[in-house]
Amino acid sequence: MPFDSLGLAEPVLRAIGEMGYVDPTPIQEQAIPLVLAGRDVIGSAQTGTGKTAAFGLPILSLLKSHGPFRCLVLEPTRELAGQVDAAFRDYAKHTDLSICLLHGGVGYGPQRQALAAGADIIIATPGRLLDYLDQGTFHLKSVEFLVLDEVDRMLDMGFLPDVRRIAGFCPSKKQVLLFTATLPPEIERLAAWTLRDPATIEIGLRRSPAETVRHFFYPVAMDQKFDLLLAILEALHYESVLIFTRTKMAADRISDRLIAHEHRVAVLHSDRSQAERTQALAGFKSGKYEVMVATDLASRGLDVVGISHVINYDVPESPDDYIHRIGRTGRAEAEGDALTLITADDVRAIHAIEHAVGKRIPRQKLENFPYHYTTMLEDHPIPKSAVRPKFGRRRR
Ligand code: AMP
Repeated sequence: MPFDSLGLAEPVLRAIGEMGYVDPTPIQEQAIPLVLAGRDVIGSAQTGTGKTAAFGLPILSLLKSHGPFRCLVLEPTRELAGQVDAAFRDYAKHTDLSICLLHGGVGYGPQRQALAAGADIIIATPGRLLDYLDQGTFHLKSVEFLVLDEVDRMLDMGFLPDVRRIAGFCPSKKQVLLFTATLPPEIERLAAWTLRDPATIEIGLRRSPAETVRHFFYPVAMDQKFDLLLAILEALHYESVLIFTRTKMAADRISDRLIAHEHRVAVLHSDRSQAERTQALAGFKSGKYEVMVATDLASRGLDVVGISHVINYDVPESPDDYIHRIGRTGRAEAEGDALTLITADDVRAIHAIEHAVGKRIPRQKLENFPYHYTTMLEDHPIPKSAVRPKFGRRRR
């Protein structure tokens, strides 16, 4: 079904035509007619499926004329809010609707000005939005569309009480669209409280990262982790690599050491200023940095095309985090490799990960690396025929 038969407004169709969107994605095909018909929607779809346009295009089509604060989109992280803001600006470029991005980590001045000007659409993270609501800088009494995006992530981050409070500031008559990858009881309760007779759409078409990504474990002694990482980066045939550490301190330390070895590295974690985070992400997307070192902050939702490898420098705390981290590669079914360094401390965590991905993950040994002894190297003999990640020296 082509886009122009879905009932979208002409300026919106023109914008997406110019962006090269030809056919709607499955979630767009399902969601757009429902939203245009005024239905509340629960969508179980992840970032990367075209979800932003699935709610953005019909909302922009329905908003038509001006009126302050008529659409509110809530996002769990600053990065996601920034991404959705950029997409809305593209989709709305032939309309005269104004958009205001509110999140923490940046000054209040420009945000206050945009609010005073009465933006039609607000895209926000919960904390900063509540600051303004509590200060009485603006109100949500005229909200007609409320989008709760990545709600499972909001739950993980402890934001659900804030989300409830914010929804409570909105009028009871509004259209609510809720997107979440999972529906635990807390989210079901939120949905029952906030949505009216919602239509449910599920996008099961995208294969899970657990299936599309090739997984490898690299056993190593604790004192050789960094050396092995360096040797892997030297040998690996990669486009761009995302390296995950468990702590912010480790992220800083690893990136400093990689920079000392002449890698072009960006760092992303929550202690970096917003300007640094934006710059790191933009530089990684543009290719200025070939490596990004991040904490789990970056493991959900980020839309960076072409990450060829994810390296888990530290084994993630939960299998869920593993799935989210590796989901940054192999997006849209492109091929991707996930390499995880494992030490003797990680035995329990690696079994949980294998259970979560539903298969045994092959152990790998890097050729010509001067391994120190660790029981991990003995535990799991590496078959000669094992599939290996692509090695070779080719960088962009
Ligand atoms: P999202 O799931 O909203 O993060 O979108 C993932 C990516 O797909 C973004 O880069 C969008 O610009 C792109 N995209 C969304 N819908 C379409 C479409 N119908 N055709 C082509 N690209 C799309």
